[in-house]
Parts: sequence; structure tokens; C-alpha cells
Amino acid sequence: MRFQLSEQHQILQKAVRDFARAEVAPHARKWDEEERFPREIVPKLAALGLLGIRIPEEYGGAGMDTTSYAICIEEIAKVDGSLALTVASHNGLGTGHILAFGSDAQKKKYLPKATTGEWLAAWALTEPGSGSDSAGLTTTAKKDGAGWVLNGTKMFITQGSVGGFCVVLARTNPSAAKQKGITAFVVEHGTPGFSASKHLEKLGCRSSDTVELTFDNVKISDEQRIGEIDHGFTDTMRILDRGRISIAAMALGLGRGALDMAVAYSKDRKQFNRPIADYQAVQWMLADMKAELDAAALLTYRAAALADKNLPFAREASMAKLFASEAASRACNKSLQIHGGYGYTREFPVERHLRDAKICEIGEGTSEVQRMVIAKHLLRG
Ligand SMILES: Cc1cc2nc3c(=O)[nH]c(=O)nc-3n(C[C@H](O)[C@H](O)[C@H](O)COP(=O)(O)OP(=O)(O)OC[C@H]3O[C@@H](n4cnc5c(N)ncnc54)[C@H](O)[C@@H]3O)c2cc1C
Repeated sequence: MRFQLSEQHQILQKAVRDFARAEVAPHARKWDEEERFPREIVPKLAALGLLGIRIPEEYGGAGMDTTSYAICIEEIAKVDGSLALTVASHNGLGTGHILAFGSDAQKKKYLPKATTGEWLAAWALTEPGSGSDSAGLTTTAKKDGAGWVLNGTKMFITQGSVGGFCVVLARTNPSAAKQKGITAFVVEHGTPGFSASKHLEKLGCRSSDTVELTFDNVKISDEQRIGEIDHGFTDTMRILDRGRISIAAMALGLGRGALDMAVAYSKDRKQFNRPIADYQAVQWMLADMKAELDAAALLTYRAAALADKNLPFAREASMAKLFASEAASRACNKSLQIHGGYGYTREFPVERHLRDAKICEIGEGTSEVQRMVIAKHLLRG
């Protein structure tokens, strides 16, 4: 049986694909080389509903499902990994946390501005000393009268300097078990003591904003606390489960983009008087890429379909992210090989795809962490 998206999902897929080809692809190389966040694309993303993909219409969002979310990310990633990462983290992490666990007042305050792009969202869990062991975070939030004071440093935060607000995970109970004493807060840019202390120069996804954030005696009110006190880490794990579907979709898009380029190039490029596509060595690389990426698609859209049916999907999301990210890196590498020396130059986008794909094996839990999650589910059963 052939996997088929619904008619509605296919219409969305075509709309986002057309947008990505017309508005993103022509600029992606320049944005990457300039290593700057392309603020000018934000109103266009908003107009298409891509900044409020899962946000209900009452808050100005597109009110779409997780399958739609994956489709949007995949189509953008086919032409630009950086923008796919921006859209994925804005929707899945920053606004996703408020959508899932925020109060009505927080949803009314933050979600409409997030959907218009007036406020892009960041989400800060990782710290210089805690990545895979994310519950080891040391940023603190201490009670200060009716409010809180935040102190600490966050690392690798997407939209950290270009966002309007940031969801921050901080330790509120140092004497509790490390996963139990963490709480989420939302902090607006411009709050005294909250700053982007360092822009990080990266291998790939260079036009996505990645920064170190500092919280130096940042005073916030209790209305900025998201969810229950000391419950932030449990909520965070649920946010990452869905986030992993979007990183799988990003990997899928980058891989499929690289495959399309390899097919076109291999039919065009002649060596020994024949298109290189005539050679079996090239055909086998194309065949392996296609088979692996279709397998990645099945895993990704299975996880999304489970999420849409409100069925457990954590293990399936980890499997999708693990497989799709590693398959995408292999596919981009093979595509570059098929492009030969030209693929190694920046004249062709395939080298950018290879650089961008690598983050999918690291962000929102490394491949090793995904294997730990999958094994935990297997063994506990
Ligand atoms: C471009 C980019 C964007 C990001 N965006 C965000 C963001 O918006 N918000 C945010 O909070 N974070 C973000 N991150 C952080 C990202 O989630 C972390 O980098 C990731 O979780 C890995 O943590 P680490 O870098 O500290 O690596 P480490 O945890 O130090 O891992 C180093 C290596 O050790 C391995 N390892 C660690 N523990 C184990 C173990 N128990 N068993 C086996 N192997 C292990 C890892 O798999 C890895 O190979 C981003 C990172 C990047 C690079």
C-alpha cells in the first residue's frame, strides 16, 4: 500500500513548496554566506500561517495538525535548512510550550504576536554545562516577594537574539531530585539583565540565529511562570517529543532536496561521452538515497499521525528523528559525491544541505540520546 497524504495535506504541501521555491530558494545561499537572520522573510512566513502552524485560530494561528507542521518544515528544508530550523523551533518549542502549558492570559498575550511575527519565540533549555543531560541545568529562579529573579547562562539558543520572548527553564528547587525542581518562565526581550551575550558561528544553518543568553538578576512576575512550579522538566520532555517530529521532517526535506539535485545533475553531467546517470555506481547511490528517504518519510509521518490521533508517539518520534537525520546526512553526502568537484564548491547548494543536515543529528537530542529513548521504551515494556 502506498503512503498517501490527504487531499488537504497535499494542497498545503503544494502551497508551501511554491512559496519555498519562489521566496526562499533564490536567497538561501546569500543568507547563508552573510550569516544573518533574514528578518525580511518574517512577514511572508506569517502571511502563509507558518508562524502559527498549530496555534488555534482564536489566537490568530492556522490551527493545523502535526502532520501539517511536518509538511511545512519538510518543504522549507528542501531549499533552506536555516529557515526550516527557525520555523521549527519557533512553532514547536517557544510557542509550543505556551500553547501546551501556558495560562489563558499567557496565550492571549504571546500567541497572537507570535503568529504575526511581531515576536519570534526562543526556547532555552541547554546550558554551557548541560546538553544531553538537560536536567543538570544550573540557571536558577529564586522567589523574590511575589515574583522571581533569574540568574544563569543558556547556550545554543535559536532565535535567542532576534526573538521577542524566550521560554526559559530554571531550577526552582535545588533540594529536589534534579528532574523535579525545574520550572518554565517566559521572559520578554528588553527585560533588564536579559541579554544575548554571544553570537555563535556555525558549520551550517548559518542564517538561523544561535546565541548564548545571559540572565543577570532578571526580575519577572509570577504571571510569567508557565505551568506548575517544579513541573517544567516533565512539560519540557513533552515539548521535545513533538519537536523531534519537526527535526525529522527538516532532515527529510534536506535529504530529498539533495536527492532531487543529484537526479538532475546526474542526467545533465556527461563523462566518457555519457550522462553519469548511465553508470550503475551512480544509480545505486540514487537508489539507496530514495529508499532510505522514503523510509524516513514513513517514520516521520507515522509519528505525526499518532500525535494527531492523541496516541502515544514519543518512541516513534525518536525513531523518526534518529533515522531521518542519519539518512539525510548520508543522502547529502552521496549527492555531493555525485556532483563531484562542483558539489564541493558553493556554486551548487548541495554543500549547504550537507552542512545544514548535520544539526539534525544533534539538536533536540543527539542520535545517541534518541537511541537511549528508544531502548528505554523497548526494555521497560
Ligand atoms: C544550531 C543549534 C541550535 C540549537 N537550538 C537550541 C535551542 O533553541 N534551545 C535549546 O535549549 N537548545 C538548543 N540547542 C542545543 C542542543 O539541543 C544540544 O546541543 C544537544 O542537546 C546536545 O547537547 P551538547 O551540545 O551539550 O552535547 P553533549 O551532551 O555534551 O554531548 C556530546 C556527545 O556526547 C554524547 N553523549 C552525551 N551523553 C551521552 C550518554 N549518556 N550516552 C552516550 N553518549 C552520550 C552525545 O550524544 C554527543 O555525541 C541547539 C544546538 C545547536 C547546535
